[in-house]
Amino acid sequence: MKTALVIGAHPDDPEFGAGGTVAAWGEKGWEFHYLIVTDGSKGTPDATQDPRLLIQTRQQEQQKAASILGVQSVEFLGLPDGEVQPDQNLLEKLVAILRKRKPHAVFTHNPEALEYRRPGGRPHIAHRDHRAVGQTVLDAVYPVARDPHYFPAHHAAGLTPHKVREVYLWGSPQANLRVDIRQTLQRKLDAIVQHRSQISPEHPRIVRARQTGRPGFEYFLRLRISP
Ligand SMILES: [Zn+2]
Repeated sequence: MKTALVIGAHPDDPEFGAGGTVAAWGEKGWEFHYLIVTDGSKGTPDATQDPRLLIQTRQQEQQKAASILGVQSVEFLGLPDGEVQPDQNLLEKLVAILRKRKPHAVFTHNPEALEYRRPGGRPHIAHRDHRAVGQTVLDAVYPVARDPHYFPAHHAAGLTPHKVREVYLWGSPQANLRVDIRQTLQRKLDAIVQHRSQISPEHPRIVRARQTGRPGFEYFLRLRISP
């Protein structure tokens, strides 16, 4: 059985980026875990919203969405929303988790895309947290988690080096893999609308997707790390 870690900047990113694939490959025997980097505390246009309450709400929404997709666990790093830096602090945290969980594959944001277009939606600027997380995850996968002289204190904590074999980047203009999610699209939509603080089940895009069965595919840039 293959294990995959899906690393998203915010609660709801894994569902939009890879929810159909998580459900489909989960049915084929893959085991999925989530890591959410930020607390999602700025994800509202409502200036009167209490950020602490929003953090709790979004964590609960993320747990519900993950369980619909058959995800085994959800971990929250809790960094402040909108303030992710691709620095040593984040790198160390990500490497520790890779060395602990030892996933075969990692799914995350494409760090290079300056614009992001959700299926059926208009393009918009890729969020700075998405770019920072994508970049730092790639650094963590290669070479940092693999090579023992990075973060040697990990050894004392029982965290041994780990080589991730595959990386799947969503939101890439250079996608080289198309995953058929026609059988799991409804579950993906069910999971997305658990994020009630972010999107309504009556949102036109959701309604249209339910009616048309489209988009029936998710696209990734797949990078394979040789043995
Ligand atoms: Zn996001």
